Amino acid sequence: MSNIVESFNKINNFLSKLKILDDNESVRDTSPCVVCLGILQNQVLADFIQKMISQIEDFKNDCSTVSFNLTLPTVIQIRERAIQYYLTTHFSSNLWDDKIKVQNIKEVFKWFISPKIKCVMNKNLEISNILSPFSIDVHISYSEDQEECSQLLNNYDQLTRVTDFKPKSNRSNISKKTIDSLTSAITDEQFVKCYTVPPSVPTSFVNIDKLICKHDSIFVGGCYQKLSRKISQTPWVVDGELKVTTSVQDIICCHLMDFTKAEHTKFLSSGREDVDVRMLLSGRPFAIELVNPRYTKHLQENLFDLRNKINAQTEKVKISNDLKVLTKTNLQKLKEGEYSKSKTYRALCICKKNFDIESLNSILKTKQNLEIVQNTPVRVLHRRAVSARKRVIYELRARLPTVQEIERYKKSTNCNFNDCTLIIYDFKTQAGTYVKEFVHGDFGRTNPSLSSILDTEIDIISLDVTHISLEWP
Ligand SMILES: [Zn+2]
Repeated sequence: MSNIVESFNKINNFLSKLKILDDNESVRDTSPCVVCLGILQNQVLADFIQKMISQIEDFKNDCSTVSFNLTLPTVIQIRERAIQYYLTTHFSSNLWDDKIKVQNIKEVFKWFISPKIKCVMNKNLEISNILSPFSIDVHISYSEDQEECSQLLNNYDQLTRVTDFKPKSNRSNISKKTIDSLTSAITDEQFVKCYTVPPSVPTSFVNIDKLICKHDSIFVGGCYQKLSRKISQTPWVVDGELKVTTSVQDIICCHLMDFTKAEHTKFLSSGREDVDVRMLLSGRPFAIELVNPRYTKHLQENLFDLRNKINAQTEKVKISNDLKVLTKTNLQKLKEGEYSKSKTYRALCICKKNFDIESLNSILKTKQNLEIVQNTPVRVLHRRAVSARKRVIYELRARLPTVQEIERYKKSTNCNFNDCTLIIYDFKTQAGTYVKEFVHGDFGRTNPSLSSILDTEIDIISLDVTHISLEWP
C-alpha cells in the first residue's frame, strides 16, 4: 500500500513539473524543443506539410500507400539519450518500469503526419510500416549537428583516452555510424560527464532540406520477334546520329510509358541480335524497367490490351507471348539466361562448291557437340578485348531452300545465285557463340568453322535467330 502511495506522489510531482514547463509559454513556442529540435513543433510541421503536399501533387500517382525515408540530424539520438537518462533518474518509479522509454521521434513524426496527409490529399494514403513502392525521401538538417556530435566525441576521447574514438585530424564530417558505435559503447555514467543532461535549448530549428517523391521501378517482361533486318534492338547512335529510325525498344516501350507515365525506361534482354538479323518464332526474352512510374495499380490487367496496341503498331516487331509484371527473381533468370542457355539459328549460306544434301548432312552429323575456339571477331575488335573463348555447337543440319525462298532472296538482295549453291543451315549453339564467324571462319580466328569443316569458302546471306531456350517470363 505504501508503495502505491509513494508512486502516486512521484507521479503528482512529475505532473506538476510538467505543468511548470507547459506554463512557460515563451520557452514552449519560440524555442526549439530540446529533443526533437522542433521537428514535432507546429512551425516545422506546417512547413513540412506544405512542402509535402506540393511534392505529392506534382508526383500524381495511383499508389494507396506511402512510406517515408526520414534522415534526421545525427545529434537527435544523443539528445534522446540525454532526455531518457534525465527522466529515468528524476522520475522513475516502480509503478512503471525503472527505465523510461522515450518514443522514437521518427515514429511520432509519422503519427503526426499520417492524419494530415489523409485529410489533405483527399485519398486514403496509408503511412506504411512495410516499405511502400511510393516513398518520400525527407532530409532534415540542423546547423549545429556536427558541432554537438564532435563535442560529445571529444569529451569521450578525453574521458576514456582509448584509441577507438581517438580524435582524428579530420573530424569535420562525423558520420551517423560513428555516433551509433559511440552511443552503444558509452555507459550512462560516462555519458553524463560528456554531454549536458538535460540537453541544452537548441540555438535554431531544424531545416527541411530535401523532400523527394519517388516510385519504385516496375518491370514488364515478354518475348519479342524482330521481323525486319533494318531495325536495331535499342536506339543505335553513332557520333550523336541515329543510324536507324526506330528500334525494338522504342516500339515496345512507348505504349507502356504512355500508360504508366514513367519518367524513362531501361531495356533489358537475354542477349541481342545484330541489326540485319531477325528474331523469329518464340522470340527473345526481354524486360522493360519503367523508372519512376505513376500509374501501376491496373497495369497487369491492361497488359493484354497494351500488347495488342504494340503489335498493331508495325509489322517489324511483335510481342510473341503474354506480357507480365515481373518480380526481382524473374529478372535474375533473364540475366542468367544470357550466359547459360542455348540458341537456335537459321542461316542462308552461299558457296561455290556443289553439295549433295544427304552426304553433307552425314558429315554434319559427326560434328554434334562440336567444341570450337573463337578469337574476338574482327568486326567487334574495336569494342571488345582480345580473348579466345570456347563455345559448343550442339547441333548442325542442312537443307536446300525452297523455290519460294530462293525467289524471295533474289528479290531482296538483287543477286543472281545461278553459279552458286544456296544452303540453309540450322544450328543449335551455346549462348555467346559468334554464329557468323562460325560459318565463314573469320580469317581462321574461329576454329574449326563450317568453312574449314567443308573445306570451302562459305558466306552468310541472311541470318535469323529461331529459338532461345529460356522459359520466359
Ligand atoms: Zn520535441
